[in-house]
Amino acid sequence: MARGRAALSATLKVAVLAGDGIGPEVVVEAVRVLTALRGDGLALEFRSALVGSAATDAVGNPLPAETLALCRQSDAILFGAVGGPRYDALPRAQRPEQGLLRLRQELGLFANLRPVVIFPQLAAASTLKPEVVAGLDLLIVRELTGDIYFGQPRGIRVLASGEREGFDTRRYRESEIVRIADVAFAAARRRARRLCSVDKANVLETTQLWREVVTTVGVEYPDVALSHMYVDNAAMQLLRDPRQFDVIVTGNMFGDILSDEASMLTGSIGLLPSASLDADGRGLYEPIHGSAPDIAGRDIANPLAAILSAAMMLRYSLQQERAAERVERAVGAVLERGLRTADLARPGEQVIGTRAMGTAVAAALSEPR
Ligand code: NAD
Repeated sequence: MARGRAALSATLKVAVLAGDGIGPEVVVEAVRVLTALRGDGLALEFRSALVGSAATDAVGNPLPAETLALCRQSDAILFGAVGGPRYDALPRAQRPEQGLLRLRQELGLFANLRPVVIFPQLAAASTLKPEVVAGLDLLIVRELTGDIYFGQPRGIRVLASGEREGFDTRRYRESEIVRIADVAFAAARRRARRLCSVDKANVLETTQLWREVVTTVGVEYPDVALSHMYVDNAAMQLLRDPRQFDVIVTGNMFGDILSDEASMLTGSIGLLPSASLDADGRGLYEPIHGSAPDIAGRDIANPLAAILSAAMMLRYSLQQERAAERVERAVGAVLERGLRTADLARPGEQVIGTRAMGTAVAAALSEPR
């Protein structure tokens, strides 16, 4: 989707990094669904590698060199989750979460895409009123490798007075803003062609530049309606009237906060997929949830976020729009039938497990529309 899309091989190579906790349980269901698509002329090859605690246990490194090499050779990466309480006391470099952060850095995954879609069958699961969220279909594009999270200098220093002072630096180069704006405009073109750029241009110099550059990039996309909004207003509007948005583009820190806020509009973290893309459209696809150690190994995790991440992978990295839509329709079909994992079920509704949900989605792929 970004400029300069890399050529794809005839057999599409998918690196599978299941990770920790519920990661392996939900990823296996995503692979089950992708495998069921293969009959449709889609040639997919899956190769697994260690990441996170599993890799730390095996080789003392949450991102082993072989895993990174496999990711570099693949057309896309399907990722589960990493992390667990057993590892919280380890030095930072060995913590499972470092495996994912390093992977993002090594592969230049600068564009984070988070769709927030309410399936009509689940409108009542949101904490907002159904009439506010029904039909919501929003995409947040967050810059992932710049901003105050990476800017130098940073630190905690002692002032002449003896008092300590913490400081960080917020930076964005023009080229960084151009490439994320390109991704967002291109995404808007596939959708309702409306892009809202979120900044704080009334206060911060970095976002004044952000607004100028996004506006300039917008000249190349005359078919996309561009608007701008201050981040404080955007946070409010997401709760007041989230359906006003089609695509939102914003920097790393604002995106971090707004995308978590928006994710809760849907009712369950177990439903939300994400993509992190490089400049060639290659990417890492993962549910937004973590390893959920509290429910791991019990066949109760919701696999739909992982399955919908696989659909995003088909769309954005493997150029298989029809297959992506088939997966999304199959998810809609099982929800329509009333199938619910524990996180989605309301009192009195029948609950099914992780494997049964994955199996039902795979079966629904071959049902007529
Ligand atoms: P979490 O997302 O793992 O869990 C939060 C809550 O949501 C838990 O109650 C969990 O049971 C529930 N939940 C999550 N996914 C679910 C699913 N698919 N179905 C049903 N319920 C689900 O967040 P946390 O508890 O803050 O973190 C647990 C571990 O995961 C930590 O080690 C954290 O660092 C790690 N983590 C990893 C990632 C990642 O790999 N990208 C992201 C977030 C957190």
